[in-house]
Formats: sequence, C-alpha cells, structure tokens
Amino acid sequence: MISTFDLFKIGIGPSSSHTVGPMVAARRFRETVLARTGVARISAEIYGSLAWTGRGHGTDTAILLGLLGHAPATIDPDLTTSLSDALRRTGDLGIPGVHFEPERDLVFNFKDILPLHTNGMRFRAYDARDALLEDQIFYSIGGGFVVTAAEAEAASAGDAQAEPPLAFGSGRELLDLTLRTGLTIPQIQLANELTLRPREAVDAGLDAIRDAMFACIERGLRMDGELPGGLRVRRRAKRLHASLEATKLANSRPAHEIMDWISLYALAVNEENASGGRVVTAPTNGAAGIVPAVLRYTRDFCPDWNDERGRDFLLTAAAIGGLIKARASISGAEVGCQGEVGSAAAMAAAGLTAALGGSAFQIENAAEIAMEHHLGMTCDPIAGLVQVPCIERNAFGANKAVVAASLSLRGDGQHRVSLDEVIETMRQTGHDMQAKYKETSLGGLAVNVAAC
Ligand code: SF4
Repeated sequence: MISTFDLFKIGIGPSSSHTVGPMVAARRFRETVLARTGVARISAEIYGSLAWTGRGHGTDTAILLGLLGHAPATIDPDLTTSLSDALRRTGDLGIPGVHFEPERDLVFNFKDILPLHTNGMRFRAYDARDALLEDQIFYSIGGGFVVTAAEAEAASAGDAQAEPPLAFGSGRELLDLTLRTGLTIPQIQLANELTLRPREAVDAGLDAIRDAMFACIERGLRMDGELPGGLRVRRRAKRLHASLEATKLANSRPAHEIMDWISLYALAVNEENASGGRVVTAPTNGAAGIVPAVLRYTRDFCPDWNDERGRDFLLTAAAIGGLIKARASISGAEVGCQGEVGSAAAMAAAGLTAALGGSAFQIENAAEIAMEHHLGMTCDPIAGLVQVPCIERNAFGANKAVVAASLSLRGDGQHRVSLDEVIETMRQTGHDMQAKYKETSLGGLAVNVAAC
C-alpha cells in the first residue's frame, strides 16, 4: 500500500526526485555517521540524471542540507542558501571530528550510472587514515521516495509487507472492491490509512496537506520578479491574478475565463516550486501545481465545498496515484513527463470527480481520460531547471484534469479503455522512450532553446 501521506509530502522545491529525495538520503546517511565512532571524513557522489541536471535542480544544495540534518518538510525555504553557503565555507557538519569539504567531497559523476536507477547517490565515510568505514548507495525513485540498494532489491523480490484490509493492485480490483463492499473509493483509501494512524491523525494530516497547498498558491500569487537559475523567466501569477481580479465585475466576460483561474493556481504553485519554496509533492514537485489547482478550483468554483469533500478529493487522488506508482512510475527520469504531469492530472481528475459526487466507475474513467491524453510526453527541462516547460505544463495538466472529470461526469462510467490499460501503456511508452527525453536535459526543448 502506498499511503496518501507518502504521495503528498510537504517539502521544498524545485524537484522531488532531485531535491527532496537527495536531502532525505543525505540525512539518512548523517544518521549512520552519528551512530558510528571513528568517522573523520565523509563524501557524496551523485550519478546519472542527478549529475546531469543536478545543478539546475539544486541537488548539491539539497545534499548539503541533508548532511547538516535538515528535512524537506521542516526546513525554512528562506534559509537554504545561507545554511548551505556556511557549510561550503566552513566544512562544519555539526558532528564533532567529521569533515566534509563540498568542493572536494561532493562529486558529480557524469560518466557512470548505478545499476538500479538513474538517480543514484553514494555516500562514504572514512576514518582518520582514509580507510573506508561506510559505503551506502541510495536511489531517489521519484516523488521524494528514497530507497537503499538493499531496499530496492527487497522490493523487486516481493518481500512481504503488511497487507491493508482493503488491498487493491489495479483499477479493476479497486472497482470490484467498491462493488463488493459498497464503499466509495475515498472510503476504501481511508480504511487502509486507518491501519497506519488513527482517524483524527488522518483528518488532520489531510487538512494540513490542503492548507499547505493553498498557502503555496497564496504565496505564489503575491511574489513577483524573475525565477532563479539564469533563464530569466519572469513570474506571471501575480500579474495574471491582478488582471483576473480587475475584470471580475465586468459585464461581458469570456466563458473560458475559468480556465485562466485554473491555470493561475497551477502557475502560482510551480513558480514557488521553481524558486525553492514550500510545496507539496503531488505526486512530484515538477507536477506539484496540478492537484492544488484543481482542489482550489473545486473549493472556489464548485458547489457544496466542505472539509469532507476536500479530504475525499485527496484520498481519491492518492488511491489513483498509488496505482500508477505501483504499476508504472511517477518519475520523469524513468518514464518522462507523462509519468509526472500525466499522473498528477489523473489524480486531480479522479479527486474532482469524487468531490463532485461521481461514482467509482466515473472516477476511474476520469483518471483514465486524463492519463490517456498525456501519453508520450517527454521530460526535457531547459537547463535542468523545473521552469520551461514545467510551469505551463502544470497549467495545461490542471485544465485537462477538469475536462477529464467533466467528460466522465457527463457519462455513465462505461468506457472503452480501462485505467489499467492506459497505465500499462504509459509504462511501456516510458520504457521505449529514448533516454535523452527522460530528465537528462540532453534532448527536446533543452537542446533546441538557448538557455541564456
Ligand atoms: S518536464 Fe515534466 S517531468 Fe520533466 S522536470 Fe518538468 S514537470 Fe518534471
């Protein structure tokens, strides 16, 4: 079971796989070092996509922060630069006797790829004579999830995990469960969550995710100026918001204006993400604007919003996101942008359909439609920055999610292509996609548009 709270993680931008994951891995290695005696020096080496696009994604800074003991959910985004700069200057990790000089000890390995995933990291600890004491490999597998080599091998060997009471491994099984139990999809996801934490904690956690998503939108609407990284991309959300507010009371307004509001919310989140702000991984940072934008659209523009509908939205989105992660991937480095923006759109479409009272079959249909129309989308961020095409891509993903929900709600849930079939198609398409289109910045827009 993939918990709602694993898919929706409060963290910082710009990337779940390249920022959040590496910070988590580095922090885990720090715990290892703290538990050992005799460590005098440590080193970190990053491989594959992490090396190729790591500077644009802030992977180096994230590793420094993790080694300092910071976590994505709690670090103040306004302090990341000063904390990492201090470590670069002093080499002081706050662990007596242990040295780390980022210039020497943090290595970008552009040549090699570790065997299990392109987002590999290797941390080593040495004693005062430079003898190796610890050697740990981690993989950042998308969405902020991190596994060691041993954990990855155990997962692929199918090591036993506790079964939730209403386990489902496919869209078909999920629909069968709703027929057998009479429960809705959010009720099934909730029943499984209750094996991990009590009801009050689930509700409080869901409300905290919602609040963090809306706070991110609000901050994105206030901020202005250029995004960091050198591409000279100007923030748009603030100006677009002012323009929409200015025409709110006009007698004649285009019917498609609602699409601008949906786009606005997504732009606000992804501009925050691109500037390293506080975002919710949903299911990744690159695609973090879609679920919040559609959730906010549900609150502000759809009838009968209440906290319960917001929770149903998130639980349903998580049920679909968990299926996609388990059966294919949510990582741009593994399957391209169809796995990030496509997955987020499927999750948001399902969430909106549930919040508007759709049946389980309509929810499955909405998720399928949203994913189907992202198939084949590559990942090619210019300069490795999660800005172009990522920010606008979230606006499109959010609008497509609303279209998908609307189409399914006007039908009866019966449709030709199943969610399982489209997830499998996405997996195969990602597998066949040339490596240069999978978060390497070696193809697509990344090579056809001048970075400066
Ligand atoms: S192109 Fe898509 S998958 Fe790639 S970094 Fe941007 S949002 Fe993520």
